[in-house]
Amino acid sequence: MKTGKRIGIIGASASGVYTALLAKYRNPSLQITLFDRTDKIGKKVLATGNGHCNLLHDPFLIEAYNHPDFVSSLLHSTHDFGLKDALNQLHIETMTKGELVYPLSYSAPSYVRYLSTLLEKAGVDIRLGEKVCEVRGAEIHTDKGKYVFDHVVFAFGGCSQPNLGSDGSLFPVLKALGYHIVPLRPGLCPLRCSDVPRSLSGVRHAAKISLVGEKTLYEENGEILFKKDGVSGICIMNASLFFKPGTSLVVDFFPDRNEGELSSTLERSLHYNGDDFLLPILEKPLMEFFLKKGENAAKTHSISEKARYYSHLLKHTVFHPSGLYPFEESQVSCGGVSLDDVDEHLRSKVDSRHYFVGECLDVHGLCGGHNLGFALLSALVASGELA
Ligand SMILES: Cc1cc2nc3c(=O)[nH]c(=O)nc-3n(C[C@H](O)[C@H](O)[C@H](O)COP(=O)(O)OP(=O)(O)OC[C@H]3O[C@@H](n4cnc5c(N)ncnc54)[C@H](O)[C@@H]3O)c2cc1C
Repeated sequence: MKTGKRIGIIGASASGVYTALLAKYRNPSLQITLFDRTDKIGKKVLATGNGHCNLLHDPFLIEAYNHPDFVSSLLHSTHDFGLKDALNQLHIETMTKGELVYPLSYSAPSYVRYLSTLLEKAGVDIRLGEKVCEVRGAEIHTDKGKYVFDHVVFAFGGCSQPNLGSDGSLFPVLKALGYHIVPLRPGLCPLRCSDVPRSLSGVRHAAKISLVGEKTLYEENGEILFKKDGVSGICIMNASLFFKPGTSLVVDFFPDRNEGELSSTLERSLHYNGDDFLLPILEKPLMEFFLKKGENAAKTHSISEKARYYSHLLKHTVFHPSGLYPFEESQVSCGGVSLDDVDEHLRSKVDSRHYFVGECLDVHGLCGGHNLGFALLSALVASGELA
């Protein structure tokens, strides 16, 4: 017979809310209290997917994560009970655009409102505007009082976008309890590049980008967006997960044409358009950027040499990222509670009364629903144990 265990969950955003709902679904007698330091549930979820909330990636790709083996072991411990099945059980309707899964409403605000009603219906005790300051065993100490539980679930996220709640303030608390914390840094964020001229700010261009160190660390075809002091776009945010000091960013502005084809295009344009040869293929700020880069070549080369020169330049433009944008502008945090401190059910090896779900763990994924997907997967696994 299941007992009405008392469970305190720290964090009322994606992973905490999913854990509460799935645990209650499996065992309605559980007494669950959900804490959040902000005055709303799912404050970060509201900002996801450009306000549409990209819930999942379908198919689920373990290789999209920094620890694919660990994620794979979690998938196995759900006994192949799919993530979409989990959403269905919570009466969450979804739709899929390409490989991206969204709530059927296609609206993050509606989705969060719906999650609130589900929590209310399930009888979860929600304590908003209450910051957890300390955890002692299964006791949670907040800025408003002390609570005693049988289990504590940590679902407090990372350090990204602290204005949306996750300020990382519990990592030092966990460290003091004996947990290992993999150092945190911003992920899924723009890259600072001092060699991007301000004149390119706001320009977007289809491109293949490669982040290269001693070897190629990451490459993707996508759209690069120039900022006043760096580069952004989904492909760049994905590349930021692999950034190391000293890496170069190589941009191919015409990934669909090989260098020979592009050279022929440019040669035709040089014959017909003269000095305006880049006008048919580039926006003005980019055209001016490349003309400046090729200033010297322009004086000395013949038309065919010039075409070859620019073709190479357009396919191998190198920028030198100097660093990552800060947590305030990152979508996820890399690092967090070490996976060595949890088992395949997300129960702590340091204190068996503790569970960990979502981004506070050292797991992050690429853009495309993988991070909310991990919030759901981890909640599914932990709730199975809690119930
Ligand atoms: C702009 C933006 C867009 C994104 N878009 C997508 C997307 O479309 N798809 C996708 O998969 N992922 C997306 N992500 C990433 C995704 O939102 C996160 O990975 C996910 O929200 C992590 O869920 P979580 O519950 O683990 O942590 P969080 O969502 O960060 O929630 C942690 C919660 O814990 C609370 N908390 C923290 N400390 C305390 C404390 N001491 N006491 C009480 N409460 C506390 C916080 O207030 C917060 O509500 C996006 C992120 C951002 C910032």
